[in-house]
Amino acid sequence: MRLHDSLTKDLMDFPAHDGPVSVYACGPTVYHYAHIGNLRTFLTVDLLRRSLESAGREVKLVMNITDVGHMLNDADVGEDKLEAAAAKEGKTPQEIAAYYEKAFFSDLEALNFKREGTTFPRATENISEMVAMIEKLLAEGKAYVTPKQDVYYSVAAFPDYGKLSGNRVEDLVAGARVEVKDDKRHPADFALWIRNPNHVMQWTGPQGIQGYPGWHIECSAMAGKFLGETIDLHAGGEDLNFPHHECEIAQSEGANGKPFSNHWLHVTYLVVDGEKMSKSKGNFYTLSDLLAKGYSAAAVRWLLLSAHYRTQLNFTLEGLKAAEGAVAYFRELAAALVGVADRHAHEDFSSDEARRAFSEALSDDLNVSKALAVLHDFARDANRNLAEGRLGGASAVAARAFLAEALEKNFGIDLSAAPQPPDEVLKLAAERQTARADKDFAASDRLRDAIVALGWIVEDTKDGQKLKKA
Ligand code: AMP
Ligand code: ZN
Repeated sequence: MRLHDSLTKDLMDFPAHDGPVSVYACGPTVYHYAHIGNLRTFLTVDLLRRSLESAGREVKLVMNITDVGHMLNDADVGEDKLEAAAAKEGKTPQEIAAYYEKAFFSDLEALNFKREGTTFPRATENISEMVAMIEKLLAEGKAYVTPKQDVYYSVAAFPDYGKLSGNRVEDLVAGARVEVKDDKRHPADFALWIRNPNHVMQWTGPQGIQGYPGWHIECSAMAGKFLGETIDLHAGGEDLNFPHHECEIAQSEGANGKPFSNHWLHVTYLVVDGEKMSKSKGNFYTLSDLLAKGYSAAAVRWLLLSAHYRTQLNFTLEGLKAAEGAVAYFRELAAALVGVADRHAHEDFSSDEARRAFSEALSDDLNVSKALAVLHDFARDANRNLAEGRLGGASAVAARAFLAEALEKNFGIDLSAAPQPPDEVLKLAAERQTARADKDFAASDRLRDAIVALGWIVEDTKDGQKLKKA
């Protein structure tokens, strides 16, 4: 496929070699529920892996769980996000991490993120690899210990620093985007290991210093441990380009003397009302927020993947409603294609061109807008041919197979699932059942209207009430 690389800022052939493809994606910092902006980034990685697999490639994906070392505001000084959340919630950092990690996995499962072939290493379980890497950098003079016994990376020792983000060392002056600290040699130097006796999580680090790792080192160490010194692709949200990924390159290439990643992919932010969706701004939705409003996880997945990953996606509930409609539309078509009788009249419906155009669109830098346009045209034609009796059994089987390939395998949208009514609707339906049993028909009608107002239809069948999406 052709894929944009944020290092060369160009479309490149990807992967550049045969055999398994190694992908490292920066995962969640588990101090809070993931918001759907985070999920957009993770789902883009899932879409990439599914596209590569559809093209017959084996993908080894590693997504780390940050359960220590990610500072508030990404500065080296300040509080660890995990420890700050622990203090706020009156829990231990380990309890916080375990709780939000579980929530993260349940989001991934609901969103049909492919778990097989994915490794999710926790930072706290890979400290010795981080320490070994820091020792190596110290031995090579690329890192130094400050009088306070913090360990810093010396950007001056890595001439390529800035090649990803364009932030050259000489331009990174004190007070600019990097935090100034008196014992740093250069304002752009960043923490590898931090000594802070007040930090709850402590390990014996480089040169026996008790402390905890910086955030950047965890990704370098875990990418190297699970995927090797040179990986095929590194992904993350656009905010991670600098300093996080720039620092990862400096650490890995500084320690190993080899290219760190052959390709870099950055996902543009999800925004709400033109502003970045973020935990700190409080303008975020979690998946559970949206499920509680009655939307399906499939619609959330659809919406988050429906715009090209290098364009800003503006989140609105209207957009989500439209995504819900799109999912239902394709599910209806998939259902209509099952059991179509063989027709002997002339029929000329073929899925071949749509199949080719769909896969070509995804191979073109994951051009989902084009891929979805292909699917919509295909569905319109299929529906028209079905209605006019010009789509027979064999074509229907082929068309259903194409939808399964495109939507279920590539897009991760389950075509057979019916939308689930939200709790609120279920509660009203239960009350209505009681009202009917009590022969209180006025109440029963009132409850039916309340259910309709929430976008659901209730039907009375001989097996009891049935709920259907309006
Ligand atoms: P965090 O849990 O904050 O470490 O972030 C996890 C991932 O989500 C990182 O790759 C971030 O770059 C990404 N991310 C954060 N905010 C957004 C957003 N609004 N849109 C898309 N990705 C985001
Ligand atoms: Zn990372």
